[in-house]
Amino acid sequence: MAADVISAAGIPVTLFEKRPGPARKLFIAGSSGLNITYDAPLSEFTSFYRTEPQFWNRVLTAFGPNQWLQFLHELGLKTFLGTSGRYFVEEMNAARLVLLWRERLISRGAHFEMSAECVNFDVSLSEPGVTLHFAGRESQTFSAVGFGLGGGSYEPDEIPLRWPSMFINKQIGVHPFQASNVGYQVAWPQAFLQESEGRAIKNIRLTCPTKGSQQGDLMITAYGLEGTPIYFVGESGTVLIDLKPDLTHEQMMEKCSRSTENLSPIRRIKKYLNFDEPVLSLIFHLTDPPVRNDLSLLLERIKAFPIRLGDPQPIAEAISTAGGIELTELTPDFMFHKCPGVFAAGEMLNWDAPTGGFWIQGCVSQGHLAGLGILKFLKERR
Ligand SMILES: Cc1cc2nc3c(=O)[nH]c(=O)nc-3n(C[C@H](O)[C@H](O)[C@H](O)COP(=O)(O)OP(=O)(O)OC[C@H]3O[C@@H](n4cnc5c(N)ncnc54)[C@H](O)[C@@H]3O)c2cc1C
Repeated sequence: MAADVISAAGIPVTLFEKRPGPARKLFIAGSSGLNITYDAPLSEFTSFYRTEPQFWNRVLTAFGPNQWLQFLHELGLKTFLGTSGRYFVEEMNAARLVLLWRERLISRGAHFEMSAECVNFDVSLSEPGVTLHFAGRESQTFSAVGFGLGGGSYEPDEIPLRWPSMFINKQIGVHPFQASNVGYQVAWPQAFLQESEGRAIKNIRLTCPTKGSQQGDLMITAYGLEGTPIYFVGESGTVLIDLKPDLTHEQMMEKCSRSTENLSPIRRIKKYLNFDEPVLSLIFHLTDPPVRNDLSLLLERIKAFPIRLGDPQPIAEAISTAGGIELTELTPDFMFHKCPGVFAAGEMLNWDAPTGGFWIQGCVSQGHLAGLGILKFLKERR
């Protein structure tokens, strides 16, 4: 996005990427739908970011969801609003977005250099210029440099990540990375896993004593649980799951008591409450017989089914990571106080957000401002 802003002003840009091709994380995000932003008024949108409301208010006022959607439409993409308030590109993957965006940048004279891992940089104050040093190739000097090096998730070959040392060596504050939006371990009984691994528990309301409640779907995995309500909780401990949020205990009791057939409580809930197989499997395998055989106790448990979340999955498996360059290291233009002419934006900065399109939106909004900041810096230098 920063390169887009700069190249639109007619200034030549080179984009370096350590991998053989660009935008790998967007392709990964695209494998689960590519949720590009969220539908909410600015004040509500800002409140989703877990820290720094003033920072986000400024960033999203400058380049918010409407500008981002318009940008995508101008690029030639169609978007749609899902029922959950999330926006997606029509294709629900990143291929066309990356193709069209790359073509546009190249048509404006931008130059892509792949398999180029930046390992260090020097800032020259007397002779304005930032020199980038690469692994196994020649160094290059530019009038200004913008870093967008990303976070620590889905980087199994880099634990810990390599890029932070470039900044730590310059006494720039880098907050340790933590997994954000990650699955949690649950000690499932083997019989339950055999029946339900890889299946979804749909439309539940999950309550956690410290964070409140969140409605959504859960995915049962061999290690435990993932899904938006789990990402929302983001901590170990016992959570309560309402497996039938649309009905009260009394309404369920009334439905289950309609027939005089001689059915066990489990058979009654199966017959009258329309639970999917994974929910019935969960109730059956994780409920002791005294509760399973008492309809009222069983319905109580269905409204507040306790699950103990153990440890989070490792950072490499998280959707995103909090941590990175401290925001206080940067000017409002996203330039390092300590390194004039050097800018940074995106997940490499220390901020955090839930899933819902807030990550991509946050990254492109910051990238837009960093691009404007670079233009301003170049103008002032000239
Ligand atoms: C499974 C998954 C699903 C996701 N789904 C969504 C979603 O639906 N919606 C959403 O908003 N967000 C989603 N995200 C998060 C989102 O993809 C990221 O937050 C976003 O891509 C971060 O953008 P970025 O440009 O800051 O970093 P990145 O996209 O990570 O790009 C940084 C780039 O820098 C390169 N790089 C790193 N170090 C160097 C170096 N030293 N030299 C040269 N190049 C380097 C990396 O290889 C990488 O290509 C998802 C993430 C994952 C893992």
